[in-house]
Amino acid sequence: MLNLILFGPPGAGKGTQSEKLISKYQLCHISTGDLLRAERAAGTPLGNQANEFISKGELVPDEVVIGMVKNFMVSKPDAAGFIFDGFPRTIAQAEALDVMLGDFNTSISIVLGLEVEEDELVKRLLLRGQSSGRVDDQDESTIRNRFKEYQNKTLPLAGFYNQQSKYVGVQGIGEIDAIFESLCEQIDSL
Ligand code: AMP
Repeated sequence: MLNLILFGPPGAGKGTQSEKLISKYQLCHISTGDLLRAERAAGTPLGNQANEFISKGELVPDEVVIGMVKNFMVSKPDAAGFIFDGFPRTIAQAEALDVMLGDFNTSISIVLGLEVEEDELVKRLLLRGQSSGRVDDQDESTIRNRFKEYQNKTLPLAGFYNQQSKYVGVQGIGEIDAIFESLCEQIDSL
């Protein structure tokens, strides 16, 4: 199985690049942000609980997200591999993911980190907010809070995967297709 983590701060282009990677490598896409927004749209208790965190730019508690990913993976027993987009976001999530993949007799193949500086990200997110309707893309203070969460809780994962020699940083500014090429080069060299 080919299991990729697409890593990076909010607005780095994880969703855009995931779409291209899924169709090229026939992977099963798991975006915890998308799953949480679908729960909220369906008005489930999980979705309502998660929305309190999402609207403030805070991370949703680990146990909620881990349970959701577990259910999703179990529902895809025939997957040729997974692309994790926006998950894991904490060390606890990464450790839980290792256990879940172990149950599939597999592991993470590579962690691709899209690297983009913060001011560019704020610009992109505010622009996206004009059309996405996302509650957390609307004002700069919520966006800055998401970066704080990223710095404190998610960025340490780069070190976690670096220790396992799985982390590869890729320049996330430039043409979408050029960034995609860089990602493919890394995957094809596995
Ligand atoms: P995203 O669409 O990945 O930018 O996620 C939007 C929001 O959903 C985040 O700011 C968090 O509030 C929540 N979220 C998504 N994925 C996770 C995760 N793996 N852990 C905790 N919260 C998450």
